[in-house]
Amino acid sequence: MARINDHYLTLKSSYLFSEIARRLKVFQAARPDARVIRLGIGDVTQPLAPAIVRAMHEAVDEMARAETFRGYPPETGYEFLTRLIAERDYGARNLPMAPDEVFVSDGGKTDSANVQEIFAPGCVVAVADPVYPVYVDSNVMAGRGGPPDAQGRYAGLVYLPCSADTGFEPPLPDRHVDLIYLCYPNNPTGAVLSHAGLRRWVDWARRERAVILYDAAYEAYVREPGVPRSIYEVEGAREVAIELRSFSKSAGFTGTRCAFTIVPKELHGTSAAGERVSLNALWFRRQSTKFNGVPYVVQRGAAAVYSDEGARQVREQVDFYMENARIIREGLEALGLTVHGGRNAPYLWVKAPAGLDSWGFFDRLLHEAHVVGTPGAGFGPSGEGYLRLTAFGRRDQTEEAVERIKIRL
Ligand code: PLP
Repeated sequence: MARINDHYLTLKSSYLFSEIARRLKVFQAARPDARVIRLGIGDVTQPLAPAIVRAMHEAVDEMARAETFRGYPPETGYEFLTRLIAERDYGARNLPMAPDEVFVSDGGKTDSANVQEIFAPGCVVAVADPVYPVYVDSNVMAGRGGPPDAQGRYAGLVYLPCSADTGFEPPLPDRHVDLIYLCYPNNPTGAVLSHAGLRRWVDWARRERAVILYDAAYEAYVREPGVPRSIYEVEGAREVAIELRSFSKSAGFTGTRCAFTIVPKELHGTSAAGERVSLNALWFRRQSTKFNGVPYVVQRGAAAVYSDEGARQVREQVDFYMENARIIREGLEALGLTVHGGRNAPYLWVKAPAGLDSWGFFDRLLHEAHVVGTPGAGFGPSGEGYLRLTAFGRRDQTEEAVERIKIRL
C-alpha cells in the first residue's frame, strides 16, 4: 500500500463547523417550529452586480463563436485583468505595481494555502491567535506543525496571542520567524491595523529578513480614512510582503471564484546554497506548473468590477453589508454587550456576557434567540470568550436577529 502523507493525520478534525452543525441539528429536532437565523457564516448573500453579470454574458457569447472562442487562459491571468488590478488597485493609490507582479487565481483560500510551498519545509511560521484556520492547516500538511498540544496548538508553529487590550494586534514574535501570516481587516476579530502598526511589522520583517503573507481579503470594507488598505502603503513593504486579495467579499465572487496575489519583484528568499532567489519567479513557476488559470468568463466579470458602473454597484453592496454591521453592533451595544470590529470589517467579535464561554454564549443565542454565531474559541485558544457574527446576511434577517437578541437575551 502507498504510504500517505502522515502530516494529514495530525490535523485537527474541523471540529468547529461540524460541532456547530451537530448542535444545530439537536436544537432543530427539539424545536422544529423555530426559525433559525444564521449569522455565523462568512458567505455573501447579495447577487452579482448587474455590470458583472452583463460582462459575463458577453464573455459567454464570445466563447460561443469560433472567431472569439478561447481555450486555456494564461496561468497568471489575462493581461486585461492584471493591468486593471495593477493600475486601479495600486497605481491609482500611488503604489506602483507591474501587471506581472499580479497573479490571478481562483481564490484567496487557494493562494493562502499554497503560498507556503515556495518556502523551505524548515521555515519557522508564525500565526496570530485567533486565526483563519487555512494558514495553520496548510503548514501542518506541509510538515511544519509538529505534534498538537491539548489546546490544539502545534509545537512547530509560533502563535501570537491577540487580546482586546492591544486592539487584537499580535505582539512581535520573541524568537526568529521566517514567515508570518497577517490578516487585515481581520477574520475573525474585525480588527484593523493602523499605518504605524503595519509599519512596525514591516520594520520587524526587514530586520528579521522574514516574509509577511498579508491577507487583505476584506480590504474593500475599510471605511476610516488613514487605515491602510494595502501593506504596500508602508515604505519598504515591497521587499518583505506578499499581498493576497480576493473578489469574493468585495464583489460577491464566493461562488464565482476569482482572486489575486501580489508578489513584488523586490522580494527575495535564499536558497540552500545561499543565492538570492526571486519569489516572483518562484511563484510564477509554481502557478504555471500546478494551475491552469481562471476561466475567461470569470475574469471578464472581475474586470467589470473596475468599470465606473461596476465599481459603484459593488461599493453599494459593501455599503449594504456595512449597514448590517452597524445594525448588529449598535443593537448589541444597546444591550450592554462589548462588540469589537464591524467598523472596517464585515465581522463582529462579541464578548460573551459574564459567566459564559464561547460555546456557552453560542448555546444561549441559539436556544433563546434562535440565532447562530461562530464560537471564537474555534479560531484558537485566544478566541475563547468571544463569538463571531457576520454582516453578510439579508437585511430582514439581520434586523430580526438583532431584535430577537434584544428581547430574549
Ligand atoms: N482569507 C480570509 C481571511 C478569509 O476569511 C477568506 C474567506 O472566508 C478567504 C481568504 C478566502 O477567500 P476566497 O473566497 O477568495 O477563497
